Amino acid sequence: MAAGLFHRTTASYTKIVATVGPACRSVECLAQLIQAGVDVFRINTAHGQLAEHTETLARIRQASQQVGQPVAVLVDLAGPKIRLGDIPGGQLHCLPGQRLRFVRSNGPLLPGELTTTYPRLIEELQVGDRLMLADGTVGLVVRSRSADYVECEVVQPGILRSRQGVNLPWVKLSLPALSEADVAAARWAAQQGADFLGLSFVRRPEDVAILRDLLQGYETAPQIVAKIEKPEALQHLEAIVQAADAVMVARGDLGVETDIAQIAVVQKQIVAACRRWRRPVIIATQMLESMTHEQLPTRAEATDVANAILDGADACMLSAETAIGQYPVAAVQMMHRIALATEPFDRPHWSSSEQPPDQGLDPVTEATARAAGQLAEQLRAKILLVATATGATALCLSKYRFRVPVWGASPSEAVLRRMCLYWGVVPLPGAPIKTSAELLTYAIQKGRQLGQLQPGDRLVLLTGSEVTDRTHNMIQVHTVSDGAF
Ligand code: PGA
Ligand code: MN
Repeated sequence: MAAGLFHRTTASYTKIVATVGPACRSVECLAQLIQAGVDVFRINTAHGQLAEHTETLARIRQASQQVGQPVAVLVDLAGPKIRLGDIPGGQLHCLPGQRLRFVRSNGPLLPGELTTTYPRLIEELQVGDRLMLADGTVGLVVRSRSADYVECEVVQPGILRSRQGVNLPWVKLSLPALSEADVAAARWAAQQGADFLGLSFVRRPEDVAILRDLLQGYETAPQIVAKIEKPEALQHLEAIVQAADAVMVARGDLGVETDIAQIAVVQKQIVAACRRWRRPVIIATQMLESMTHEQLPTRAEATDVANAILDGADACMLSAETAIGQYPVAAVQMMHRIALATEPFDRPHWSSSEQPPDQGLDPVTEATARAAGQLAEQLRAKILLVATATGATALCLSKYRFRVPVWGASPSEAVLRRMCLYWGVVPLPGAPIKTSAELLTYAIQKGRQLGQLQPGDRLVLLTGSEVTDRTHNMIQVHTVSDGAF
C-alpha cells in the first residue's frame, strides 16, 4: 500500500461497506466509490466465478492505490443456501391451497413439481414443516411425504421463479456449514489476502470454528464475519458473537427466517451483543434499496441508516444499490451524508460505572486506552493516535465511541486494512513506529498536510514504552506549535 494521502477530508466515523457488482466493477467507479466514502468492498461469491473475483480484487487494490486510501475486502461465502432448480417455463403461479411436490428427479417435471439444489431435502422434511420461498413471498407447509416426494400446501400465494432461494427457518437440516464451493472460496480468499470472510447462515458457534480451522496455516487469515440470518443463530447469539471477529445483521434472509415485525428489535439485540463482546457490527440489506433505481432514498430508508448508527452500528452496507444499481456513487454519498448528519447525536458508549468486558486485552492496556480516550475528549484533541500491532487496542477505542478520530498506525498492512471496518478509526499507512517520537512527527506532518491539524491543536498519543509491544502504558499529549512540530 502506498503511503498515500487520504483524499477524504470529511470521513464519517461510521464505516461504509459496498457490494461490488457489474454496476461498479471498473477501476474508475471503484475509485469514485472510495472517494465517496467506501471503507470495505464486499465480493459476494454467491454470484460469479473465482477467476472473475480475482480480477475484481485486483481492481479494488488498483483503485485503492490510485486514491491513496486503504480499503478492506470482505469475501462473502454463500453458505448453506438452498435454491430451487429450474422451473419449466421459468415461473410458477402458486395459488392458495394448491399442492406442490418436491421431487428427486432431474428429468422432465410434471406440473406442480419442484426440485432444489439440496437432494436430501426430501428425506429431511417432516409433515408440518414450513418453507419460505422467493425471499419469503411464497409460504408452503409440508402435508405428506413418501420415499420419492414431499407434498406441500401453499399457505402464502405468490410467484416462484427458477433458482430462487428456499428458506427453512426452523427445520434442522444436516447441511454442512460450508459447501464445497465455500471451502474453495474460503481458501481462495485466504490465499489472496482478503481481510474478512463472511459466513452465511451461521447456526451455532461451531460453524465459526469450522471456518477458523480451515483458515489455519495461512499467513494472515481473514477475520470471520458471522452473518446472523437464522432464528437458530439468535438462540446462540452470545456464543456466536464471541466466536466471530465481526458480525453482520443480514436482514435480507433474517427478514424471511424470522418474523419481520421483530426485525428492528432483533437488530438492536445483535448490536448490543456486539458492543458487549466488542465486535464490529455491520447492518446490511435494503438500507437505501430504492436508490437502486432512484436518485434519492425514501424517508424510511434515510431514517433506517440513521437509526442503525444510533443503535451503535459500526458499519452500514449497500448491496444491490452499488452492485447492480443505476446510482452506485450517489448511494454511497447519501449514506455518508446521513452518517455525518447523525453522528453528532449519537451517545458515547462508556460511562464510569460500566465495567469493561474482559476481552483478553492486557489490563494495563485496557485502562490506559480508556483513559487516553477520555483525556482526548476532555482536551478536545483533534486526533487520538494509537500504535497497534494487532488492531485490538484500536478496536477497544472504537467500541467506546470516543468523539475523537482515532488514527491507527501498525507495522502490518493486514491490520491497517482491518481497521477500515472499525468505527471512527482511520488507518495511517506508512507510519514509522520504531519510536513514539518518530510516529508523532509523522502523524503531525500528515495532519498538517491534510489541514486536519493547525497550530494550537492537540493530539493524544497512546502507545507503549516499547511502541509496538502488546502493552500500551504511555499517553502523551502534544500541542501543535507554530513551527514544524
Ligand atoms: P446476502 O446476505 O446478501 O449474502 O444474502 C445479506 C442478507 O441476507 O441480508
Ligand atoms: Mn443472506
